[in-house]
Amino acid sequence: MSRYNPSLVVHGGAWEIPDEEVKAHLRGVQKAIEKGWSLLASGASALDCVEETVAVMEDDPTFDAGKGSILNTDGSVEMDASIMDGCRFDAGAVAALRNFPNPVRVARKVLEETEHWLLAGPGCEAFAVRHGFESVPVENLLTERELKRLQILINDPRFRSPHAFGGKRGTVGAVAMDKKGHVAAATSTGGTPKKLPGRVGDTPLIGCGTYAEDGVGGISCTGWGESIMKVMLAREVAEHLRSGKPPVDSAEACVGILKARAGGLGGIICLDRYGNPGMAFNTPRMARGMMNAETDKPFISVD
Ligand code: ASP
Repeated sequence: MSRYNPSLVVHGGAWEIPDEEVKAHLRGVQKAIEKGWSLLASGASALDCVEETVAVMEDDPTFDAGKGSILNTDGSVEMDASIMDGCRFDAGAVAALRNFPNPVRVARKVLEETEHWLLAGPGCEAFAVRHGFESVPVENLLTERELKRLQILINDPRFRSPHAFGGKRGTVGAVAMDKKGHVAAATSTGGTPKKLPGRVGDTPLIGCGTYAEDGVGGISCTGWGESIMKVMLAREVAEHLRSGKPPVDSAEACVGILKARAGGLGGIICLDRYGNPGMAFNTPRMARGMMNAETDKPFISVD
């Protein structure tokens, strides 16, 4: 028997999810887990699993990723995503990507097809087209909801990014371990409300929003990106896991560090080197789910 525990943890963002949106978040996480778990259970790699799981949530306008992304101050949509393969200790990421509905898939291509880790802006868009991704008009990514919200925020000079985590919507992420014990993580976001065009957050930065290393574990973070970058949150969690601290304790300790060192708000999902899960957040709610071979149905919650 393998001592590895094929597992999948997923998040759909840490913020004050209003009661009337809870159902959509639970449903969205459930759908993502069903997709990811069916792959893992049939022997897919952790890397394929996290890509597909995150793509399901990018397609769901409930979340701040792909369709449904938060808008920049000028009404444009720019998205960040990253994916890391703990087996090869290699990663791919995209930043400020426009016009592609599944940034995580472009990030995967950066991992597979280049010697780089992070492509940004127009060069990244040209890369995506060269690799067969279809560029879509911005209208395909826009929602009425986000257009209305931008109007409100533009007229609110007191608004600052951290306020958003009382009332934005969620970035998405997944961490998986496969039957062979390989770990992978992926995260995707439309960013934070009222962000300037060109702003890049923690999500595409390896060690900030995402990290995976076989023998250590995998991590995906969500929350106020600038605070996550200050403490390099995913790497901080990895060091706790590396030291042998249990994943729940590691996630909780690192959310504490985020708050204490950077006044940060956010959440963490992780798996340790054996596939045991940990989750923690310091926002009012975090949409999240978990499935492994020992649970007969997924755990899904926002509270
Ligand atoms: N961390 C993301 C960013 O700052 C936002 C989020 O996780 O909700 O871009």
